[in-house]
Order: sequence, then structure tokens, then C-alpha cells
Amino acid sequence: MSVPDCIFCKIVNGEIPSDVIFHDEHVTAFRDLKPQAPVHILIVPNRHVESLSGLGDGDEALAGKLLHVAARLAAQEKIAESGYRVVVNNGSGAGQSVFHLHLHLLGGRPMLWPPG
Ligand code: 5GP
Ligand code: ZN
Repeated sequence: MSVPDCIFCKIVNGEIPSDVIFHDEHVTAFRDLKPQAPVHILIVPNRHVESLSGLGDGDEALAGKLLHVAARLAAQEKIAESGYRVVVNNGSGAGQSVFHLHLHLLGGRPMLWPPG
């Protein structure tokens, strides 16, 4: 299910170009347009889900798949040993600006804690 005005649905469907580094039946990953770290990848479900809170009963496998892809891409991008961060901004108050669920995979530089 895809939503006409959703930029990430369009990326998943190939309607707008992006640097896609992983794509299968359920999940797509592509490089962030404005990277906040040397490695900054977005991992999204192919199906339009508004946010983490929008996952329903029955989406457990999808949620796990998103995390699993993040870990695999971290290894592929060679940031697993130095450390990486996976972030989900849920809701505008937490900084979500695109309302199609996405995991940020960030690495390649030291990460501060607590995050801003
Ligand atoms: P959020 O603020 O919702 O957690 O993250 C949205 C992310 O999507 C931001 O890091 C932003 O740079 C990225 N982004 C927004 N529009 C595009 C786009 O058209 N292409 C790509 N590759 N990334 C985008
Ligand atoms: Zn969407």
C-alpha cells in the first residue's frame, strides 16, 4: 500500500531517484539526502506505515526485519566495530519530519549521549 504524496513511498516505488543500497519484498534502504554522519542510511518498510506507533499486531516480523537489515548494513558499511546508532523519531515532537516509518542508521563518527 502506497500513499500518493509520500516521498518515501515514491522512493520505494522508484518514482523518485535515491541511492538505494538494499531492497527486497518488504524493506528498502537508501542513503539520507542530508547525512548527519559519514554513514547515514534510512531503512523503511515498503508498505506505508506512518510511524513506529503505526505498526500493528502482526507487524512483529516487519519490525524485526527492519532492525536486522540495519545490523547487516552496519556490517556492510564497516561501522559495526567502531559503533553505530539506530534512531527512530516518532512524532513531530521527537523530530519526525517524514511520516513514513524509517530507521536512521548512523555511524562513522563518535556519537554523543544523550542525543539532543
Ligand atoms: P525524520 O526527521 O523524519 O526522522 O527523518 C527524515 C529524514 O529523511 C531526514 O534525515 C532527511 O534528510 C531525509 N530525507 C528527506 N527527504 C528525503 C529525500 O527525498 N531523499 C532522501 N534520500 N532522504 C530524504
Ligand atoms: Zn509512504
